[in-house]
Amino acid sequence: MNAPEFTLTAGPTMASDRVRAALGSPVLFDYDPVFLERFNDLERKLGVLLHTEKDVVLMQGEAVLGLEAVARGLTTRGTKWLNLVSGVYASWFGDDLRALGAEVVTYEVPFDEALDPEQVRRLLAEHPDVERVSLVHSETPSGIENPLREIGEVVHAHGALLVADVVSAFGGCEVRVDDWHVDLCVAGPQKCLAGPPGMSLVVVGPRAWAAMEANPDAPRGSFLSLLDWKTRWVDSDRTAFLFTPSVSDVNGVAAAVDELIDSGGIDAAIARHELAGRATRAGVKALGLELWAKDERYAANCVTAVRCPEGVTTAQVLAHVREHYGVMLSKGYGVLATRLFRLGHMGPAARSLYPLVAVTALGQGLADLGVEVDVGAGAAAVAATISAGRAAVVS
Ligand SMILES: *Cc1c(COP(=O)(O)O)cnc(C)c1O
Repeated sequence: MNAPEFTLTAGPTMASDRVRAALGSPVLFDYDPVFLERFNDLERKLGVLLHTEKDVVLMQGEAVLGLEAVARGLTTRGTKWLNLVSGVYASWFGDDLRALGAEVVTYEVPFDEALDPEQVRRLLAEHPDVERVSLVHSETPSGIENPLREIGEVVHAHGALLVADVVSAFGGCEVRVDDWHVDLCVAGPQKCLAGPPGMSLVVVGPRAWAAMEANPDAPRGSFLSLLDWKTRWVDSDRTAFLFTPSVSDVNGVAAAVDELIDSGGIDAAIARHELAGRATRAGVKALGLELWAKDERYAANCVTAVRCPEGVTTAQVLAHVREHYGVMLSKGYGVLATRLFRLGHMGPAARSLYPLVAVTALGQGLADLGVEVDVGAGAAAVAATISAGRAAVVS
């Protein structure tokens, strides 16, 4: 089988020519001044895009490395966390915390709903000794976006540390780390930024550093150690790497960041993702299918989740669409695998008429398999929404 013509998945995304060229550029060694300057420049630019003056640490491994480093860095036996769960990733993060001996208070909503800041406020009042609060900003497995700004205010008023997984939010929706009182977050390059998978973009603020330094169980002398990055990199002129970094990945991520900046900056990128999400949802509804999100107000900008209709399985539909049309879509993930489809509109897939391809592929694929859908209406709704959105941008 050939590679798909269109990768419209929930990540990793298609890579642009510029990112691909950067991935194939000469491997400069980590002690070369050109590479060092590129690495420092990437740290600075990421801080700007995330609206933060906190420390940016680029860990050399896919975002799960950053998330595990954070969980371990901030947890010893009995550390009290409030874990806010509206999807698969937050649920797994809670499992990790419990495995580390944390005492975890869980606030969970159904995975087709978003977290309610008022409930967070109530739970923090009920459990005043909570030291850390964790959440996933954008739950990619179900296309739900949580109100990080409002939750940030609530957690700040209480005084606990706020830890956010912004892996798929970064580049696709607003993330203002400092204004929203986020103490620590992990972003990923392979989602809305459309870089290569393989790095964890971690932001650590002073209160989070202090909490780690006070934690006897925080990893030290380890690939999982954020504290090693602090002592040997952040506090040491940022000139001597702890170990050879993933040079090609750094080049690819730097190219993705430069491309985002050159195509209008972070606000333009967010606007593209917002429009792509809106167009995709309009198309899905016009097909006659049901969105997974109970309320569109919290449907994510990065991916649209759609309930699988009766009579077919998600695996069957995805295989058909991949084989017949060369279009790669995603099914649900974890406990949601068989229940929903996901149409990704991240990075390049948020541009142009890519949402039209995703909606048409899903619609025609379902029609081929005998499900009654209105493919024409779906396509028309996507195109009209994009047309109106572009007109609003241009005028
Ligand atoms: C993609 C993603 C991660 C990283 O997990 P992988 O399964 O390794 O891609 C973590 N959190 C969220 C919210 C993600 O979307």
